[in-house]
Amino acid sequence: MASSPLAIRGLTVSYGEKPAIFSVDMTLRAGAMTAIVGPNGAGKSTLMKAALGIVTPLSGQIRVFGAPVEAQRHRIAYVPQRASVDWDFPTRVIDVVLMGMYGRLGLLGRVRAHHRDQARACLARVGMTDFADRQIGQLSGGQQQRVFLARALAQDADLYLLDEPFAGVDAATEKAIIGVLKSLRDEGKTVLVVHHDLATVPEYFDDVLLINTRRIAEGPVARVFTRDILQATYGGRLASQQVDRLPQTAG
Ligand code: ADP
Ligand code: MG
Repeated sequence: MASSPLAIRGLTVSYGEKPAIFSVDMTLRAGAMTAIVGPNGAGKSTLMKAALGIVTPLSGQIRVFGAPVEAQRHRIAYVPQRASVDWDFPTRVIDVVLMGMYGRLGLLGRVRAHHRDQARACLARVGMTDFADRQIGQLSGGQQQRVFLARALAQDADLYLLDEPFAGVDAATEKAIIGVLKSLRDEGKTVLVVHHDLATVPEYFDDVLLINTRRIAEGPVARVFTRDILQATYGGRLASQQVDRLPQTAG
């Protein structure tokens, strides 16, 4: 699938002796919302970072819209796990969003009024218009996450990668974020989300990739998000109430 937004073959990444992900294949469906699901330490973040070219694989092939990542970086927007971002210097919200445009502006390009207007429109889309001039470090976790999503929107990308965007956010923020992601999908963009909450997978996502170092399954939620496959992904670590309502096998 040369035209897939993200096609991965035989990807192995290792930080030490033991691989964090081993020989993983995946093919993202264009215009779909896909979840990456798996236990802690399964290699979900590693897979995403490899797709972005942030970590170097031991082996395997990665194609973004049919080309190497380096050639397509401008088409990918990334919202990292919030805990990994440390704002210990004062930065205004509007400037965080403008950072999303640097790829198009160029490092020496001047920020002009229409860029600010675009950045404010992105803030409006996540319900953060009133916070444009606040310091990012002074916002709540949920508000920060909305700002990071606004920065991703400002990139005007074709492929959106988000690593646990709902972790530690309030219910209203979760609703706002999922609404924006679905609207991106409805515009034809492709969205890939590392997702922690099994209960919301069928409601939020079209497709799901289940991994535990290796790929366990990939495909439409209705086909692969089953008790058997979740058991294979999580083993004994899965609480039964998380899966009781799911079909046992694909119907
Ligand atoms: P997940 O996102 O599914 O929780 P990660 O991709 O973060 O999993 O991690 C997969 C494995 O790789 C874990 O065992 C983790 O401890 C290890 N790991 C992740 N990042 C690093 C790193 N920078 N250095 C060493 N080991 C790492
Ligand atoms: Mg992770």
